Order: sequence, then C-alpha cells, then structure tokens
Amino acid sequence: MHTQTSNSNTIKQVSALLKQARHIAVLSGAGMSTESGIPDFRSAGGLWTRDMSLAEAVSIDYFRANPAEFWHTFKSIFSIKLVGNYQANQGHQFLQWLESQGKRVRILTQNIDGLHQRAGSRDVVELHGSLMKAVCPNCQSYYDLQYIREHPVPLCLKCKQVIKPDVVLYGEPVPHIDLAFSCAAEVDCLLVMGSSLEVSPVNFIPRISMDHQIPTVLINLSSTRMDRGFSHVIHAGIGASCEALLQEMNRA
Ligand code: NAD
Repeated sequence: MHTQTSNSNTIKQVSALLKQARHIAVLSGAGMSTESGIPDFRSAGGLWTRDMSLAEAVSIDYFRANPAEFWHTFKSIFSIKLVGNYQANQGHQFLQWLESQGKRVRILTQNIDGLHQRAGSRDVVELHGSLMKAVCPNCQSYYDLQYIREHPVPLCLKCKQVIKPDVVLYGEPVPHIDLAFSCAAEVDCLLVMGSSLEVSPVNFIPRISMDHQIPTVLINLSSTRMDRGFSHVIHAGIGASCEALLQEMNRA
C-alpha cells in the first residue's frame, strides 16, 4: 500500500498524521529498547542469532520439565540483575510526549522491560508480561524483582514450588490479545515501532488496523514481511526518527 518515498517526506506525512490523531495505538517490540542497551532477538548480534535454541529455553514446556535449569538460562538471557539500571530512551519519551499533548496513547508492548512506564506512559498493555514480577503457579502469589534477584532459583514461600516469571513463555496464550485487537480496530492511527513482526498472534494487530482502513506507520531498522501493507514506512533508528518527528510536529 505504501509508496517508496524518502524518509524526510515520510517524516512530514507521519507528523501530520500524528498531529491530527486523537487516539493512537502503538505496538512496540524489542527494537524499541535496543537504544537503551537491551539487545533485541533478531538483529545481527541479537539474542536469537547468538543462541538458536532460545525459543525452547524460554518455553513453558522447559519451565515445567526443569524449572531450576530454566531459571539459570532465563537469568542469563535477560541479565535480570541489570534490568533495574536501564533507562528509557528518546523513543519511549516521544510516546510520553504525545500523551502530554492531550492525545490518548495506548501502548501495546511486546517488551517485558518496563521502560514505557519508566518514561511516564500511563496506558501500557504488556502483551508478553513483565520481567519485574514472578508468580507461583500453585497459589498465584506474586514476588518482586528484588526477591527474584536474591534467589538463583526463586521458590514460593508458602508452597515451596519454583515460581514462574510473569512473562508469556513460548507455548502460553497471550492474555490481553483481544483487548489489543479491538484497540487496533478503533484508533485513528497505529504506530508500530521496533518489531520484526515475526511473533504471532501479536503480528495480527497491524493487519486488523489495515483491514479497517486505519492509517498505519512502521518505524523499524530492517524490512519486515508486512512492510507493504503499511501506509508509511520509516527504515531508521527509533531515536533519530522520533527526534525528527518531534521537530516536525513542533514546527508545523
Ligand atoms: P525482534 O527482535 O524480533 O525484532 C526487533 C526489530 O527491531 C528488528 O526488526 C530490528 O531491525 C529492529 N530494531 C532494532 N533496533 C532498532 C532501533 N534502534 N530502531 C529501530 N528498529 C530497531 O523483536 P520483537 O518483534 O519484539 O519480537 C521478539 C520477542 O522478544 C518479543 O516477544 C519480546 O517479548 C521479546 N524480547 C523483549 C525484549 C525487551 O523487553 N526489551 C528484548 C528481547 C526480546
């Protein structure tokens, strides 16, 4: 659907679109947080290219079969001890700024790092859960990041069972997906940022906006299989793109 234009023309068009929109949905992926120092899965040097068995390692089957080994691998993949030190970047801040302009901005994020909330965004739907908590599969008691950090294999204090990170593991259903689908069908504009759009069912979200003739924007370093369906595509970094959009929106 989108025509090939230079990024600077696209920035003008997208900034006009965002200025006009009152209700914006944002679908963010791991590329949103790489400029904060958290590697994504599929870029060169990303977690996926370093270890092809990652999908198995963060699966519900592996957790159930070998919860202690699971925690060891999980902590090394997500460097969980460091999570608290990451800072929101220009991209996260831009979305908070849009909200501060009186727009309703609902963020549907695949990220589990809590950085949208740290930037001050108030309406964040964590489609794949959060690294900040873990839950007992038996009694549903929640434990915080400090408890997770302190115990190599964290156990529920009541049930003595190994607790599960509050993230959606491979093989588990995505709890808020229906909310995301209905949001994608009713907004004025959908902005997708930093996602390869390879993970299902989240990658149906843009398709729903497209089917409802809602303008769609993709900001991503590399191409995705869905590029052609978007109204506007910016192939550039999140920080540089958001800086350009901010300047253009303030100028116009
Ligand atoms: P992905 O790794 O499959 O794709 C990331 C995309 O972002 C790539 O296409 C890449 O080109 C792009 N990208 C990387 N840096 C960018 C930048 N600075 N500016 C613009 N684009 C950039 O990520 P995904 O689509 O979110 O799917 C991976 C899964 O991994 C998700 O389910 C997510 O839960 C999980 N994950 C989360 C985190 C996190 O919470 N920060 C980190 C790694 C993986």
